[in-house]
Order: sequence, then structure tokens, then C-alpha cells
Amino acid sequence: MAESKGMKEQFWDPIAGFGVTFRTMFKKVVTEQYPFEKLPTAPRFHGRHQLNRWPDGLEKCIGCELCAWACPADAIYVEGASNTEDERFSPGERYGRVYQINYLRCILCGLCIEACPTRALTMTNEYELADDNRADLIYEKSDLLAPLLPGMEQPPHPMRLGDDEGAYYRGQYAAPAPTEEIVP
Ligand code: SF4
Ligand code: SF4
Repeated sequence: MAESKGMKEQFWDPIAGFGVTFRTMFKKVVTEQYPFEKLPTAPRFHGRHQLNRWPDGLEKCIGCELCAWACPADAIYVEGASNTEDERFSPGERYGRVYQINYLRCILCGLCIEACPTRALTMTNEYELADDNRADLIYEKSDLLAPLLPGMEQPPHPMRLGDDEGAYYRGQYAAPAPTEEIVP
């Protein structure tokens, strides 16, 4: 019995092993040629964060820090400040004056975007977050803010879509007329 097992190991098992190799040679190649060919991610892939804007360009972030408190990796730092009559960055009372995400710590879990009460914070599909130094992996507000689209104006500026923040949150506004200003 022991002798027949030895024969199997010596002769049959290598043939079976090469059989797997041989069959695989004719299968479709699954190797991805990254970074030369970049394939799209799944639509709900958690990549780099984005701080969103209202259609007039004002920022959705109100500097409440809920995202920072929800983060299990302590990767977010927020400092809120008050809007004034002369300088308004968001509808309502407060805005995020300082906003940083440390991608050396972030595990892209998405708890922060779940905690955000205004949908100011969402995640994009961008996954190329490597760098050759630590400082550049701490993203500032300017790195995270969504680009200005047609019809948006760079804050600070007054509320264009309603008299108070309630009109913004309830969506009681018409889309602003497109302007020429487009900043990537
Ligand atoms: S994705 Fe997760 S780890 Fe990254 S900042 Fe948000 S809560 Fe923190
Ligand atoms: S991103 Fe959202 S949760 Fe974080 S400070 Fe801004 S409004 Fe608050």
C-alpha cells in the first residue's frame, strides 16, 4: 500500500501538476498591465475624498467635525469658523476653515462620509494615492475641494440660491445660470 502511494507521488502527481500548468496556458490572461493600462474601478469603490459644493459654488462643509470624530484612524483634522457678512464660504453659520485628511493613516473605510450630515464629504474612485514623502500625503482643503463647474463661483460670496441655508438644504432653488468661470 505504502509502495503504491510512493509510485503515485513519483509519477502521477507531477503529470497532474503540469496538466494544470498546461491548461492555464490556454486560458484568458488576467494580469493587469498597471500602470500602463488603467482599468476602471467598481462604481462604489472607496478612493480619495472630495469636499462637495452647492450649485453656486459655496461649500457644503459646515466644519462640524463629525467626520473627524467618526474616523477610527484619527486621519481627519477640521477647524470650523464662522461665516461673516463680508466673507461667506458656505450657507448658514459655519464653514470648514481648515480641512485635512492624512492618507498615511486613512484606511478608506468610509465611516467619515456616513457621518457627514450635509453630504459635503464623499469619496471618489481615485486610488493613486502613493507618494515619495510623508508631507504630500496630508491633503489640504484645497486638494480635496470639488472643482468649480459652470455656474459656480469661487467663494467667498453671498448665498445665490436662497435667502437662508434652509432653501439650500431643502433644494428649493433653481439651477444657477452657467457662467464662463471654469476652474479645474
Ligand atoms: S475613510 Fe475611514 S479612515 Fe479614512 S478618513 Fe474616512 S473614516 Fe477615517
Ligand atoms: S465634511 Fe461633513 S462631517 Fe466633516 S466637518 Fe464638513 S460637514 Fe462636518
